[in-house]
Amino acid sequence: MSADRVIIVGAGHIGIACAHYLRAEGFDVTVIDQGSVGGACSSANCGFIVPSHVLPLTTPDALATGLKSVFQPRAAFRIKPQLRPALLRWMLAFARRCNHDDMLAAGATLHTLLEASAAEYRALLKDPSLDGNWQSNGMLFVFATNEKLDEFGETDSLLTAEFGLSARRIDGSELVEFEPALLEGLAGAWFYEDDSHLRPDRLNASWAERLGNSGVQFIEDCSLESVDRRGNDIVGLNTSTGRLEAEQYVFAAGAWSGGLASTLDCRIPIEPGKGYSVTMSCPDTMPAHPMLMPEKHIGVTPFEDGYRIASMMEFAGFDASIPDFRIRQLQDSARPFLREPVGPEVVDTWYGWRPMTWDSLPIIGRVPGLDNALLATGHNMLGLSLAPVTGKLIADLVAERPSDMPLEAVSPARFN
Ligand SMILES: Cc1cc2nc3c(=O)[nH]c(=O)nc-3n(C[C@H](O)[C@H](O)[C@H](O)COP(=O)(O)OP(=O)(O)OC[C@H]3O[C@@H](n4cnc5c(N)ncnc54)[C@H](O)[C@@H]3O)c2cc1C
Repeated sequence: MSADRVIIVGAGHIGIACAHYLRAEGFDVTVIDQGSVGGACSSANCGFIVPSHVLPLTTPDALATGLKSVFQPRAAFRIKPQLRPALLRWMLAFARRCNHDDMLAAGATLHTLLEASAAEYRALLKDPSLDGNWQSNGMLFVFATNEKLDEFGETDSLLTAEFGLSARRIDGSELVEFEPALLEGLAGAWFYEDDSHLRPDRLNASWAERLGNSGVQFIEDCSLESVDRRGNDIVGLNTSTGRLEAEQYVFAAGAWSGGLASTLDCRIPIEPGKGYSVTMSCPDTMPAHPMLMPEKHIGVTPFEDGYRIASMMEFAGFDASIPDFRIRQLQDSARPFLREPVGPEVVDTWYGWRPMTWDSLPIIGRVPGLDNALLATGHNMLGLSLAPVTGKLIADLVAERPSDMPLEAVSPARFN
């Protein structure tokens, strides 16, 4: 008897990871994408795999910080003024979650998922056919001022008390020896040694190739247009290149997932959260570690052949522009920190739409009211970090195997 067929809609980090674990389970897997494999938000992000990032965006001080910058067109966090009821509802729900208890509850879920995902990565990336330029050399949170360095110390104490995660403090006087790409005179840094990073586009390409060799079919330029339902089942997908049928369907459409809500007849409160990156060729003093500079809201990632600066969170709908000022802003934000904030050559400028949920948690599980459809989306700022655990969870659910992951907290049913 032939294996059950599963169709995955969306070939970003999440769709690719779902394909991996479903194929390993023996399913016959097809992945469709309206564009190219790994070509959307999963292509030029920071590449951080960060078990340290357990705190959601919905922290008690997020509202005050957000309100200060919200309508400033050049702030790192920006909401384009718009009267769209779905966005207003999203914002209100987000605001309601900005309290200590909800922050810790979301943190506990993310902690469990991130730890499990990091463990999966350690196993997966032993496979030499996966080429992500993976480097397991921690993450520096770098601060220019003592005030912000000490303030982060309080966050670190909270992470230690609640989740057993702790960073090493590196004072300014030792910092340049530890990371020679940084300028003298900075206040210091906190170092999370269990974080790692890789080059997302290379991971996607090599992972898809490996899956293709094991029988997974990827169909690019194939857009889902409508879904045929019979009772509680999906019986086929109508796509731009024809009709496709399978026994099970996984929707991993990233920031576009909100548009599937009426088709799947369920709530999917996802807004696109736009970020930018600039990738440059190697400067003379290449950063040795991936870094975050929270005072300027930027991330810096070193790769074998260059480095990337990324940041921003714009709620501006599906705006596909890359304004020059945003790219300059990324480089300017790095000036107070890096000896060489601008590399010899700009290799790539990029934007991506993060799939943002108002509770900072992904949406993973069966679609309410449908017996053969699952959602794997809403990974916010952590889709690369959470891809393997998501794929594994989806495979467990399709195979009807029990899981010790916090399924209820991430279930699509939480919005109904
Ligand atoms: C600046 C920036 C930096 C980031 N840094 C990090 C980081 O360091 N670490 C981390 O973990 N995360 C990071 N992220 C977040 C991460 O990039 C996302 O969470 C992740 O890419 C989401 O993956 P995805 O597969 O859900 O979405 P996507 O990669 O967007 O994939 C969804 C796919 O679905 C396809 N699709 C949508 N609708 C349809 C349809 N109707 N028919 C067919 N196909 C469809 C799209 O074409 C797309 O290819 C960053 C994001 C940004 C913007």
